[in-house]
Amino acid sequence: MKFAHEFRDAEKARILIREIEKLADEIEITRTRPINIMEVCGGHTHSIFRYGIETMLPKTIELIHGPGCPVCVLPMGRVDDCVVIAENPGVIFTTFGDAMRVPGSKKSLLQAKAEGADVRMVYSPMDALQLARKNPDNEVVFFALGFETTMPSTALTLLQAQAENIKNFSVFCNHITIVPTIKAVLDSPDLHLDGFLGPGHVSMVVGTAPYDFVADFYSRPVVVAGFEPLDILQSIWMLLKQIQDGRAEVENQYTRIVPEDGNDPALAAIGKVYELREFFEWRGLGSIDHSGVKIRDAYADFDAERKFDIPNAKIADPKSCQCGEVLKGVLKPWQCKVFGTTCTPATPLGALMVSPEGACAAYYQYGGITRQKTGAA
Ligand code: SF4
Repeated sequence: MKFAHEFRDAEKARILIREIEKLADEIEITRTRPINIMEVCGGHTHSIFRYGIETMLPKTIELIHGPGCPVCVLPMGRVDDCVVIAENPGVIFTTFGDAMRVPGSKKSLLQAKAEGADVRMVYSPMDALQLARKNPDNEVVFFALGFETTMPSTALTLLQAQAENIKNFSVFCNHITIVPTIKAVLDSPDLHLDGFLGPGHVSMVVGTAPYDFVADFYSRPVVVAGFEPLDILQSIWMLLKQIQDGRAEVENQYTRIVPEDGNDPALAAIGKVYELREFFEWRGLGSIDHSGVKIRDAYADFDAERKFDIPNAKIADPKSCQCGEVLKGVLKPWQCKVFGTTCTPATPLGALMVSPEGACAAYYQYGGITRQKTGAA
């Protein structure tokens, strides 16, 4: 298959669903409980709700929506840091659009902009660098966030700024890494997972080998999956097949995009510019060792964390916010007390309601409200 519509073929989807039902029926676990499959990537969460995949599956399969949306796991303290940087006179603070509405403890970047801060939406770090070229009297800061998928573009932009000797550009680095996150999820006593849909975008950069530990040490199967409906259904079938056979391996369904060994130039750029932080704070998951990266000393001149005084405070989420439980898959979005009432995409209380990749926003957009009202699971 070559074109997007071929990966959305309804007849092929029906065939796959029948095969999934057959396999699930034959798996012993389903006699006592559902098979719990976590999709790690926010892109998968979005596709699952967009195409109604969860509702097509038998009740013996439970999809758990993991912490793979980088905007959603951004803690309030880091949003506050962004606001502090943005409110410095002369700063042009640049960010991807969805990060603008993530609530901080006092305000979001969008609110800071409404109050006069120069906050601008960009589509790439190169757009931010271009702003720095055009505005030599301003300090242009790029709010870098995301997993390994977006790390290389930030790194390459920073290297370009260095090559051009641009002095008024810096990066507020909030990039996070996938492996410690999966490990933290696996070590969580709240969760009993039977397999993972591996992240397609991150794996494009890192390859499939980094997930070997999930199979080797935790005996859980992983299938790196694409984002179209047939990709996801086929990957679920592949996971069930491993479970039925008693295997725990890392398989790659997304071979048309994901090279087994990753992308060498992208990995080289990551290695050159970043080093691991000792720990990084995640919304809802707490502090996870080695789960974030910072800019190496060699590029300190481009590090906004060193150029500006930032509070770097740890701020607890509002009491009514249950993002943590949803991120860990303990609650479904519609089970949060404020879902669809005080927390909506127009007035998000938690970050999961902000990004289209957030589980709450996806539920809200593609039928979550109805599910909540009817109580259907
Ligand atoms: S409904 Fe809002 S507060 Fe509740 S978990 Fe979702 S984003 Fe967080």
